[in-house]
Amino acid sequence: MSQGKKPGRWAADLTVLLNAAFPTNRFPVDVEALALDYSRQCWPDDPILKVVGESLPGFEGALVPMGRPRKGWGILYNNDGVSDGRRRFTVAHELAHYLMHRHLMSEDGVRCDETSVSRRDGKGIEKEADEFAAALLMPLDDMRRQIAPKDKPDLTALSTCADRYGVSLLAVTLRWLEYTERRSLLVVSRDGYALWARSSEPALRSGRFIRTSGEPFEIPAASCAGMEDFSEEARYGVFLPAHVWFPEPVEEVSFHSDRYDQVLTILHLGKEVRGYRMDEPDVEDTFDRFLRERP
Ligand SMILES: [Zn+2]
Repeated sequence: MSQGKKPGRWAADLTVLLNAAFPTNRFPVDVEALALDYSRQCWPDDPILKVVGESLPGFEGALVPMGRPRKGWGILYNNDGVSDGRRRFTVAHELAHYLMHRHLMSEDGVRCDETSVSRRDGKGIEKEADEFAAALLMPLDDMRRQIAPKDKPDLTALSTCADRYGVSLLAVTLRWLEYTERRSLLVVSRDGYALWARSSEPALRSGRFIRTSGEPFEIPAASCAGMEDFSEEARYGVFLPAHVWFPEPVEEVSFHSDRYDQVLTILHLGKEVRGYRMDEPDVEDTFDRFLRERP
């Protein structure tokens, strides 16, 4: 973990700068320009020199040193079938590593996988980088005005927000789950089984969560996701009785993402009754070698 300024503080300081620079049309954040310009201004001897998209199988992004001796850093993001929204979050995540963690890194930099970035389920520096990316791209004060903490968003509300911030539906849903006062869950599934799930804090406290680490969790057959009902109605929310998902009724919003071949399901419950290592670098530029050695 970094010792200095915390992720929220970094994001808040940059948010002040961006608010001043773009008083109108503030979103989405042009994170690539921010990474290049801000690093060049603040650390001219060790800036971010490039932000480049590449096919990075198994990885979402990387921060790698450039030059020998080092002249700066390169941000790589996976652009293999990845949406612009996902790319923006990945670049912000790598910018966080640059701001907070570059002094801690070996000469090889860092490579970040999907669990750490898109699912926001990493630990240590990965968690810090995700916190920064979410706070920079989706500032809480602005997002609470789009979806209030007591709101029960349907797919349209979440998609509108995703468009506003230029991030994926998944990223915006995870951000909303962080501050909602409702008992709600996100379930991501494929072929009838949950891949992973996330609960809001109030849902978690009331014991409403879906475990995906042990036995596979089968999507209930009577749910919209289970019936593969991705109709207009399912996008707005369908009321389901108790014992479909939980021993209590739920409102289910389900949507099939063609791009990732995944089903995103949001469940609203009612009021509660209660480092990556590369080969030893020698004379080559790590950044160049990284690109060349891709499978
Ligand atoms: Zn990372």
